[in-house]
Amino acid sequence: MFDVLVVGGGPVGACLGALLAGGACGARALSIAVLEPRPPAPLPADAALEARVVALSRASEHLLRSAGAWQGIAGPRLSAYERMRIWHESVAPDSEAVLVFDAADVGEPNLGYIVENRLLQGALLEAFTRAGGHLERGQLSALEITDAGVNLTTNGRVLSARLVVGADGAQSTVRRAAGLTAEVSDYRQTAIVASVATARSHQATAWQRFMRDGTLALLPLADGTSSIVWSADDNLAAGLVGASASGFAQQLDRASDLALGTTRLVSERTSFPLRRLAAQRFVGQRVALVGDAAHVVHPLAGQGVNLGLMDAAALAQLVLAAAGEREDPGALSVLRAYERWRKSEVALMSTAIDAFDRLLAHGSGPLARVAQRGLSWVNRSQELRRFFVRRALGMSGELPQAARWRAEFTKSVGI
Ligand SMILES: Cc1cc2nc3c(=O)[nH]c(=O)nc-3n(C[C@H](O)[C@H](O)[C@H](O)COP(=O)(O)OP(=O)(O)OC[C@H]3O[C@@H](n4cnc5c(N)ncnc54)[C@H](O)[C@@H]3O)c2cc1C
Repeated sequence: MFDVLVVGGGPVGACLGALLAGGACGARALSIAVLEPRPPAPLPADAALEARVVALSRASEHLLRSAGAWQGIAGPRLSAYERMRIWHESVAPDSEAVLVFDAADVGEPNLGYIVENRLLQGALLEAFTRAGGHLERGQLSALEITDAGVNLTTNGRVLSARLVVGADGAQSTVRRAAGLTAEVSDYRQTAIVASVATARSHQATAWQRFMRDGTLALLPLADGTSSIVWSADDNLAAGLVGASASGFAQQLDRASDLALGTTRLVSERTSFPLRRLAAQRFVGQRVALVGDAAHVVHPLAGQGVNLGLMDAAALAQLVLAAAGEREDPGALSVLRAYERWRKSEVALMSTAIDAFDRLLAHGSGPLARVAQRGLSWVNRSQELRRFFVRRALGMSGELPQAARWRAEFTKSVGI
């Protein structure tokens, strides 16, 4: 029987596995398995950069260092971003009203990193197996929960564990099989992701424009191109996906207001329907949910995986502490402590992101106009800017130990 079986080896499940397999908890190491049907093939060093990327906060960087994965991520494919420029379509991209966050304002070298999803997931799975975790290739098909443990069926085999963690994404089978319900609302928007070359340099800056019919982000990549995340109303998105490459670039030039000059598509376009999801409970008997299985937020703030990584760190910390006291890792007291810790933090962030979408990207009316003007008010106050930069770095709130400085974490868990 495994101590912990993580279903889903996406970035969040793989991170949880790596922290649990690598963490010390007294005399006995925990036995940890991750079940993943499609572990990514390693990226050849000379492969072109993939468009599907995520922006990682400073807290996530610390966490990935603690999980032993940073060495697999840091390198020529990683791009640090030093500034963010955020503006509403009612002002020009070079106007004084553009909200600018600069790492230099808080004495940091950068605000975070842009990393390919596949590189992140691969580095975490590699850290997990290096730390002694068992990677099982397969898909969960059934779950039986008893007082003593959980039996999980995959490819005709049964695996048992004292705790099962659902890290299997927004359509989580674990969530459904454990009878945990979720509230889902459809944004009626689709995110289009692609890489583009731009006439002007991205200047290691993340650019974001709020429009009446969506939000456009241009994220700086290490090879000088930018990855776009264009969250557009469904009707507009259908036209954008169907347009020719040059027609798409023309629409993109309009949407970016030529902030980086003219653009040219250099990758395929992929699209993601956008929904908000919040599980009503993050835990059940011998079951916990992490990452997108527990909550899905709009990508406009680039927070989804950052939130999920903090779930993984919080749960790992509590499970390792319980195991150190020879407690059952699936005990309800451990799971409830995890839910209390993460559910309120996630709800706060999800509500804030939702408000940004309603007021800045889609809002008309007086409240929306106040919010849109608010960008330039924030820009005028150094204190407010610093406040938001600290939030963007992810260094506020109740951070798990593994997301603080590595030295502090390694000392506390003895690795
Ligand atoms: C367009 C877009 C842009 C984004 N940009 C950002 C960003 O800049 N920053 C950020 O923080 N977040 C971003 N996000 C959000 C981020 O991508 C997700 O929050 C993150 O991928 C969630 O990770 P996860 O491991 O929880 O789930 P997933 O990445 O969905 O992984 C789930 C894993 O579970 C496996 N699985 C599924 N079903 C089963 C089963 N039955 N049995 C076993 N395994 C199973 C899957 O194979 C997969 O590997 C973005 C999202 C979108 C759509």
